[in-house]
Amino acid sequence: MTGAGRFAPSPSGDLHIGNLRTALLAWLLARSTGRRFLMRVEDLDTRTSSAVAQRQLADLAAIGVRWELPVVWQSDRTHTYDQVVSLLNSHHLLYECYCSRKDIAQAPTAPHSAPGAYPGTCRDLPESERAQRRAQRPPALRLRTENAPFTVHDLLHGEYTGLVDDFVVRRGDGVTAYNVAVVVDDHEQGVDQVVRGDDLLASAPRQAYLAGLLGYPVPSYAHVPLVLNTAGARLAKRDGAVTIADLGADRAFAMICDSLGYTASDAADLLAQFDAGHIPHEPWIYPG
Ligand code: GLU
Repeated sequence: MTGAGRFAPSPSGDLHIGNLRTALLAWLLARSTGRRFLMRVEDLDTRTSSAVAQRQLADLAAIGVRWELPVVWQSDRTHTYDQVVSLLNSHHLLYECYCSRKDIAQAPTAPHSAPGAYPGTCRDLPESERAQRRAQRPPALRLRTENAPFTVHDLLHGEYTGLVDDFVVRRGDGVTAYNVAVVVDDHEQGVDQVVRGDDLLASAPRQAYLAGLLGYPVPSYAHVPLVLNTAGARLAKRDGAVTIADLGADRAFAMICDSLGYTASDAADLLAQFDAGHIPHEPWIYPG
């Protein structure tokens, strides 16, 4: 077996049927292409809990998602992330940023700059001003980029181009940013196929850019459609029976199979039938 796919849940709440469907698709795409499948718990944020993570892992196992090797917990890996941040810093690729969200929203932006892109306020501050600002607010660290568009290839979306702005690599509270942890972990776990919800498609150009900067190969991407409620909004816990605790594993599995156009007795049967060319491109409207 060469290469690996993975699922990387954040344990901030129980997985709902949309998350489980994404996990099953990630497993199917990995296994149908001869890859191993790995699991990573993205628990850097303080709003996550290990009890929730254990429930997520149990729910994934209950619908037949199987992974090899021990689960990787990001909270065990802060030393590795710090080393990567130091490496980037030693190449003069980082700068301190003292902006709040409000500062960024209110900053004047250059004409034609992409909405939401960091306006560059702290990029070229003189050291005297930095010393003063640092005393007021614990700085985040940002990557000094070319602020240019970057294109990735996605199985479902084709060529996708997004602006890579000076994104945060370490937050002001000292926590490594998602974009960095994901790239470092995927590389170190040997992940060469990233399958996840298409709400994260916009992150892919930044992550691929960072991978290139660190000399890592860029994985292949498949950003799969989300599951929506009948009102057309992203499915959430309040939309009724959406978790394994509500539905039971067998019913949840059968509904996911149906949404993908299959009838299968279990995950192995689904894998035997699975055709990557027939992943739906449209969101699944969960009947509720
Ligand atoms: N932890 C992220 C989430 O649960 C997914 C990260 C990824 O797959 O790259 O939304």
